[in-house]
Amino acid sequence: MRWDSATNGDRGLECFHVSSGLRVNFHKSKVFGIGTSNHETSQWANILGCVVGALPFTYLVVPIGANMNLKRNWLPVINKFRSKLSKWKSKTLSFGGRLTLVKSVLRNLPTFYLSLFKAPIGVIETLEKIRRRFLWGDNGGLGIGSIRALNIALMAKWWWRLKTEPVSLWCRTITGIHLLQNKPTEYLSKKNITGVWNNIATTKKDINSFGLSFDSVCRKIINSGNKTQFWNDVWHGTGTLKSEFPLLYVMEKKKSCTVAERITNNGPLWQWKSTPVDYGTCLELDRLNRSIAKFRIKSGSDKWTCPLDKEGRYTVASLRMKIDNIHINNSVQCKVNWSRTIPLKVICFIWRAALGRIPSAIALQHSGIHIESTLCGSCIGEQECVDHILVKCPYAYKVREQIFLWCGIDLCTAHSVGDLLKSAATWGRCPIKRECFMAICYGMIWALWKHRNNRLFQKVFYAPSIVVENVKAMSLYSVNSFYCN
Ligand SMILES: [Zn+2]
Repeated sequence: MRWDSATNGDRGLECFHVSSGLRVNFHKSKVFGIGTSNHETSQWANILGCVVGALPFTYLVVPIGANMNLKRNWLPVINKFRSKLSKWKSKTLSFGGRLTLVKSVLRNLPTFYLSLFKAPIGVIETLEKIRRRFLWGDNGGLGIGSIRALNIALMAKWWWRLKTEPVSLWCRTITGIHLLQNKPTEYLSKKNITGVWNNIATTKKDINSFGLSFDSVCRKIINSGNKTQFWNDVWHGTGTLKSEFPLLYVMEKKKSCTVAERITNNGPLWQWKSTPVDYGTCLELDRLNRSIAKFRIKSGSDKWTCPLDKEGRYTVASLRMKIDNIHINNSVQCKVNWSRTIPLKVICFIWRAALGRIPSAIALQHSGIHIESTLCGSCIGEQECVDHILVKCPYAYKVREQIFLWCGIDLCTAHSVGDLLKSAATWGRCPIKRECFMAICYGMIWALWKHRNNRLFQKVFYAPSIVVENVKAMSLYSVNSFYCN
């Protein structure tokens, strides 16, 4: 509202009260002046009976008008992280409990911030450090999705929404402000307009830096070709036709033409500035004609799809996992199956084993605990590390051999827990059978660890066949109750 319409503003709010029944509480409201002097703003506040407010302020938990490139403006998030993931809580919770809390804190607290603002590297590092200390009690690798990837994936979700919800009010606002109408797909913002949206659009650079393109996050499926630009959008092959056929693009009459304007099922409809005559252009035209010869226009409007997801819908988790797999090369994360049918404590154990973070004799010795002998108690030939107890030890091998035989699966060569999980996660074609096989493998690893502990602390030693029989009987009875025992 302009200053000279201050009293009109007051009346406007009165009308709002009369029509909606909601009265504006002026004593609790604040007036912010943008492009006005302090004197003018306070005059305005006097007329309305409000208090003068100053930028930045917080509205619905989100800071407005603050420079979010500064670490100090992220302090509320850092402090909340610290208080929720405090040391004393870490000591009173089990590993599974700590993991659940770490995940839920990240899911709830900073989502407002992380979905709108790109966090500075210093902030990300601080938050990661708090999470690591809480979960592991040291500075080792975290092993769960990174906050950086979450930040980028949350922000990229707005691109997806911009493309798939074009009629919503916010999309029309953004499209209007940044003049996105009739612009190529990848064009997300006008560079000279700063603010939150520009910030969101620049995440494209971060995604590119991981070797991913806009096209690998949001891609058009061409039906009638009415909403896709022939030269400027990626719709055929891996790049734009503009970059693949530069000479023809120069000759094009209407650079922003759609696919529907150039291709019909009876052949192409070219509109050149002049007939292509020189050798290079004719060669390009020949190549282009051959390349699109088999392309057919269908009925219906063009649609958006996300190549990262099987169903073609964008999810924050899919992009986050993709970035994490490239960025931290955390292959363990995708090998472990976080199925809800398997108890959390078992999955946590498998995950820790895959990361090499369970208290084997070698691990205890490394952390400074005195151990009489670090040799394996079963074979007394090798050092007792995680991979030895669960995979390489002849005892573990015998158990595995019999379990695989029982499942009717060829025994795979595995040198580590990671190898074993990978071969289980990629086994067969039927997802349900694979899930069962993975659950049996998890059970086997869990049983081997329990047997190792019984041997060490209760001094009981069972033959491998007994462990196998236990795994079989309990898996057959119920996978779930087996894990709970
Ligand atoms: Zn051994």
